[in-house]
Amino acid sequence: MRLSRYFLPVLKETPAEAQIASHRLMLRAGMIKQASAGIYSWLPLGFKVLKKIEQIVHEEQQRAGHIPMLMPTLQSAELWRESGRYDAYGPEMLRIRDRHDRDMLYGPTNEEMITDIFRSHVTSYKDLPLTLYHIQWKFRDEVRPRFGVMRGREFYMKDGYNFDLTKEDALHAYNRHLVSYLRSYERMGLQAIPMRADGGPIGGDYTHEFLVLAETGESEVFYDSEITDLRFGDREIDYDSVEQCQAVLEEFTSRYARTDETHDEAVFAEVPEERRRTARGIEVGQIFYFGTKYSEAMGAVVSTAEGERVPVHMGSHGIGVSRLLGAIIEASHDENGIIWPEGVTPFHCGIVNLRQGDSDCDAACERLEQALIAKGLDPLYDDREERAGAKFATMDLIGLPWRITVGPRGLKTGVVELTNRRTGESEEMSLEAAIDRIG
Ligand code: ATP
Ligand code: MG
Ligand code: MG
Ligand code: MG
Repeated sequence: MRLSRYFLPVLKETPAEAQIASHRLMLRAGMIKQASAGIYSWLPLGFKVLKKIEQIVHEEQQRAGHIPMLMPTLQSAELWRESGRYDAYGPEMLRIRDRHDRDMLYGPTNEEMITDIFRSHVTSYKDLPLTLYHIQWKFRDEVRPRFGVMRGREFYMKDGYNFDLTKEDALHAYNRHLVSYLRSYERMGLQAIPMRADGGPIGGDYTHEFLVLAETGESEVFYDSEITDLRFGDREIDYDSVEQCQAVLEEFTSRYARTDETHDEAVFAEVPEERRRTARGIEVGQIFYFGTKYSEAMGAVVSTAEGERVPVHMGSHGIGVSRLLGAIIEASHDENGIIWPEGVTPFHCGIVNLRQGDSDCDAACERLEQALIAKGLDPLYDDREERAGAKFATMDLIGLPWRITVGPRGLKTGVVELTNRRTGESEEMSLEAAIDRIG
């Protein structure tokens, strides 16, 4: 992409309304524009990162055997009356009436709708296990939308639902989700720690939230510092193996890690004092086994091998896809701008032409651009007639992992400069060597 032809409306001023770094940087880097409170347009750069994150989520869900689909944003109130949540949900639900006076709502989540789909088509244990998911916009009329996309009213979420014959099977689905979430966040360059969460009115031990440690996080968290040494890494996992998935769950949840909702001072006191940590975190996902709550209320039953009709065991599992942009930036930025992890960066590399219009510089930049594209990479070539300082500031702000700087002086001896955004280190090398280093 040529920057002169792109749409990257960067802001020079720091927007006054933004209280935290990620919100400030997303506005300054021209990634989003507020449409109304908690509702954003995704400008090209922001949209590109959103799609990268979404793609990782899709790949990891499908690797775990979960099946993608798509449900609408608008739902009928009828289903929610059946589950009893139409009244229980409260003012966070945006209620809409259509021209025929039918009660509708903009979905805050999809348990009811998926349960309705399930009960309409599945009647036998032979069709289980089944996990369906979608990535779709949600609306929650948050009291205090803030921090940009972190707490929006309209936000993009992956929500998946498992249907199983027994509690044991449903807990295997729970564990599969835990593993697939660990993999997803790591691919985004994030450490998200599973912490025991509050089961709410349904209760039970089977819910974990995934938290990214950050000073600006809205949750207070308490944990054993050993947990931050754990990495899923590139180990192989067989998602069909109950033992393997269970072992990962045990490894990642056996140490103390809880949010303020479930924190227990007495249990925390058993952690050696030097390993006890109190911090703040951003919730980027949650997994939940809730048994037969919806299947009983809504009649989602299957017949067993013995011909008995039983309600299915379910769970729901969410990832905050749009919130993740904020969380990644909170975890990875400096005073000059964003520092994208390789896995989600909108472009792999920036090319800065220090003398636009100079035929040697232009030719070298174009060669670089073509060679990177040929390698399957996506470079952003700053071909604007701008001062070097302004070009560098833009590249630092938008946070691409690599920058190649091309200038007349270097070209005389056949070199360009390769700069790493994270370390700030620069090195001179031939065009070919720079191309080799990236990707
Ligand atoms: P929170 O505690 O932050 O209000 P939640 O527990 O209500 O979130 P869930 O119902 O667990 O949210 O939804 C799954 C995921 O969707 C959350 O883990 C979070 O990452 C994301 N999410 C929830 N609410 C919002 C929001 N208002 N804006 C952006 N992302 C959100
Ligand atoms: Mg909430
Ligand atoms: Mg929460
Ligand atoms: Mg939650």
